[in-house]
Amino acid sequence: MKIGFDIDDTLINLREHAFHLYNKKLGKQIDIALFHQLKRVEIHELFGLDEDEGHVMWNSLMEEIYFTDCPVFEGAIDFIRKLEKEGHSIFYITSRPKTYCEKTRQWMKNRGFPVIDEHFYCGMKDHEKMEIIQKLNLDVYFDDKPAVLETLTDSNTKVYVKHQSYNGHVPFPRVYDWKNFKLE
Ligand SMILES: [Mg+2]
Repeated sequence: MKIGFDIDDTLINLREHAFHLYNKKLGKQIDIALFHQLKRVEIHELFGLDEDEGHVMWNSLMEEIYFTDCPVFEGAIDFIRKLEKEGHSIFYITSRPKTYCEKTRQWMKNRGFPVIDEHFYCGMKDHEKMEIIQKLNLDVYFDDKPAVLETLTDSNTKVYVKHQSYNGHVPFPRVYDWKNFKLE
């Protein structure tokens, strides 16, 4: 099968990594419990930042958020390696900005994800992921973001949502943790 993965907050714990960096940079100690209750993808409101300030903060830290030691979700690499060993084709589809695509691909390799260069798609907008998923004719696709998942409700691709506090309303089967997840 052809199996596709979003990266941020599907395979790696990026928002939480950013949350800890925000605490450090802003000299705050916001409780992680509040983070786990967030009903939106953006995290700035926990730090008393408005939308614009949140954007500025994220953009100014983006490189550090992306390329430091962001943890991979437990079991994610093993799960993908196992799929590859079973003969499936693995694709990554991330809407990270174009300027960070090559570095992201290398970071994923360094972390131990099996990456084929031609199977790494990056730099599109959220709503453009759907076109790539269709064009590739993926059998299975995993993502966490409601704005992306909502474009896939009529898709022929079997879609799974990586469970997060902000996507409970999305009506796809869920991955709670990669360690115990099995493809149906
Ligand atoms: Mg994501």
